[in-house]
Amino acid sequence: MRLELEDVSKQYGTATALDSVSLTVEDGEFFTLVGPSGCGKTTTLRCIAGFEDPTTGTVTFDGESMSGVPPEARGVGVVFQNYALFPHMSVGENVAYGLRFTDPPGGVSRDERVSELLELVDLVGFESREPDSLSGGQQQRVALARALAPGPELLLLDEPMSALDARLRKRLRRQVKQIQSELGVTTIYVTHDQSEALAVSDRVAVLNRGRVEQVGNPREVYRRPQTRFVASFIGENNVFDGRVKSRPETGGSVVEVDEEEWRLDGVEKSPGDAVTFCVRPEQFVLDGGENQLRGTLIGTEFQGATTRLTLDWQGRELTVAVADDERTTFEHGSELVVGFDADAVHVVE
Ligand code: ATP
Repeated sequence: MRLELEDVSKQYGTATALDSVSLTVEDGEFFTLVGPSGCGKTTTLRCIAGFEDPTTGTVTFDGESMSGVPPEARGVGVVFQNYALFPHMSVGENVAYGLRFTDPPGGVSRDERVSELLELVDLVGFESREPDSLSGGQQQRVALARALAPGPELLLLDEPMSALDARLRKRLRRQVKQIQSELGVTTIYVTHDQSEALAVSDRVAVLNRGRVEQVGNPREVYRRPQTRFVASFIGENNVFDGRVKSRPETGGSVVEVDEEEWRLDGVEKSPGDAVTFCVRPEQFVLDGGENQLRGTLIGTEFQGATTRLTLDWQGRELTVAVADDERTTFEHGSELVVGFDADAVHVVE
């Protein structure tokens, strides 16, 4: 099913939760809405599900307007953050509850459909258990089975992993992704966790203050962020503001940032123009690189494969990742020289 949001806005009194959101989600896509708390992810999902009406704009399913169509008639499966299972019903009854508005698809009986779904979410043998006797991950798989029971063409997942611990989250998201691609169901996933968004999605939309900042596949939004917000929200990044000083014959542009002058590639601007660019922590090298800066070490974090260094540079915090090397010790308060090459920067439009 192909979903389209056209210029969708949502006002709550004078507060704007969504500001002219336009998105197209293709049939069978795993599409993620990611952004900080309050950016409008849940409101977008509620407008798609029909729990809210947009103040302006349209939501269409396969080209058909959903205006005035109640949630139960939209054929959408929804999984929320807080499982929302009925405690007094067995696992099987909870899944069967998903069939309250429709007959099971494929001409099978209700019991057969419940069995199919428990198999799909890897919970064979759990049918008569009470939800309270299941782990968080298992409960969430029951909620997923219930949402999938009627064979929806669109699945909406609102932070379904957020109540689980990190390991379980990773496992469950792999399972969800696998089930999703097996069924080919168009899926919209909501999360504030950018690493989760990058890990599971075909494409992501980055939301900020009710607006879509960028839509793209995970690699695109990571490598080529179009706005300052996306550059700093997706993965760690160091964002610099400078001014083009000259464009030497030898190539690149010389850019002034505070007192430094650095040569950068990919700056499509003229001398005097302002330029914003970013350098990922892993693009810095210690005591090397064409463009260098000298900072004071104010923090180190051992992360296994790399060590993250926080430097104070001109009153600003920079993050630098260095490959872990047992011989290296870093002394707090010491001065470090780090650098990056001209082609290691990404210019934010
Ligand atoms: P979170 O990750 O914290 O759930 P979110 O991105 O899902 O955040 P929304 O829940 O969509 O954000 O909220 C977007 C904005 O709209 C917020 O500023 C929120 O306070 C406001 N909002 C949402 N629902 C209502 C409501 N029923 N009445 C008034 N304001 C609302």
